[in-house]
Amino acid sequence: MNHAIVIGAGLAGSSAAERLAARGWTITLIDRASAPGQGASGNLAGVLRPLPSLDNNRLARLTAAGFRHARKHLAALTAARLPLRWGQTGVLHLARDDRHATTQQQVAATQQPAAGEFCFVDRERARQLAGWPVASGGWWFPDGGWVDPASLCRANLARHAAAITAHYGCEVAQIERHADLWQAYDAGGTVIAAAPVLILANASDAKRFAPAAHLPLRAARGQVSHLPAASGSPPGIVVCRLGYVTPAIDGLRCAGATFAVDDEQTELRDADHAENLARLDFILPGYSKAIGRGELAGRVGFRPLSPDRLPMIGAVADAAAIDPARPSRPLAEMPRLPGLYLVNGFGARGIVWSALAGELLACLITGAPLPVAEDLVGAVDPGRFLMRGRNRRLRGDG
Ligand SMILES: Cc1cc2nc3c(=O)[nH]c(=O)nc-3n(C[C@H](O)[C@H](O)[C@H](O)COP(=O)(O)OP(=O)(O)OC[C@H]3O[C@@H](n4cnc5c(N)ncnc54)[C@H](O)[C@@H]3O)c2cc1C
Repeated sequence: MNHAIVIGAGLAGSSAAERLAARGWTITLIDRASAPGQGASGNLAGVLRPLPSLDNNRLARLTAAGFRHARKHLAALTAARLPLRWGQTGVLHLARDDRHATTQQQVAATQQPAAGEFCFVDRERARQLAGWPVASGGWWFPDGGWVDPASLCRANLARHAAAITAHYGCEVAQIERHADLWQAYDAGGTVIAAAPVLILANASDAKRFAPAAHLPLRAARGQVSHLPAASGSPPGIVVCRLGYVTPAIDGLRCAGATFAVDDEQTELRDADHAENLARLDFILPGYSKAIGRGELAGRVGFRPLSPDRLPMIGAVADAAAIDPARPSRPLAEMPRLPGLYLVNGFGARGIVWSALAGELLACLITGAPLPVAEDLVGAVDPGRFLMRGRNRRLRGDG
């Protein structure tokens, strides 16, 4: 029986667990929180939409593939009557200025997306869609929407529940490999679980484990504001413009989000609420006037971030076996730690990427045909950070 330990029950871990369980694997899932989706994946709602670009770069291709996978996956979970909460309201991505509007129009014209995928709408049409005056036109993604990420984690884990044993309230302090088995230990040195395959899906905390300490993972604090909202009040769609605002969900609208790297404060900050309201007015001019400044609720989360803004999906390289003074090998020849994998670094795109990431990781582990082109597999390979010259290029000093 194939058996894997997954550390982390957020979007990353629950997606990987679901895809492996679907292939008949047994999963031991460990999370220090008391339930799935309590970390970055615990917001009330986040945005699901791709991010096209003029040169159709790797980020754009990966978000396009991620969006398609996510849509299929959400539809399958919904059809299975799993407890997923999401709304295909459409997403309006407004241009931030005239130049951006021109670029958005060029992207729509040159890429000629299939009908229904996305299109550019002018300012008047954008106003009609938003139900509020707006400053510019923008991209309209009719198949986009909002997703409650914790409900997606729960639905992922419920789909093949019999194959997944979860340990909540259980923090992994160390991992080691002995006799072909990876072992996860608690702070007292007790083995929580052992398996031939171990998947690090515990966001930026993965760096605490020696085999993953070389990875340039960081955390970006984000605060979302929860705005009281009457049902049926505009906007009834998600609207983005250097930030986002969702439709009313159970009497609350999410507006956000702030972004601060290596900021560890967990408490809500008034200054961040003010930033979110300013962002909201940039999206929907004058919208925040009716919102009381007093007691705004919200939520703080920490996005696991990689320096190139692409996720990390695949086998963990054996950093100790690589001589930093010698040119690195191609990714295919890079030494790896047998059985140790990572699904991480989703940054601000976990809702868009997690279904594809779970599928890609499951294919890499089981040797099945991969769901994306080879260059994209290389682009998300966690080994990329050990290639010579790569880190200098990312810092822009080489
Ligand atoms: C404010 C904000 C707004 C966002 N908006 C959007 C959006 O609109 N669209 C979008 O696509 N994405 C959005 N995101 C990003 C998305 O939420 C993240 O990319 C995603 O949730 C990351 O999932 P994850 O599973 O990697 O991390 P997490 O959800 O943080 O999961 C990691 C899990 O690991 C557990 N863990 C950590 N260390 C240990 C340990 N040592 N032992 C046991 N368990 C451990 C934690 O308890 C946690 O449950 C947003 C994020 C934030 C913070």
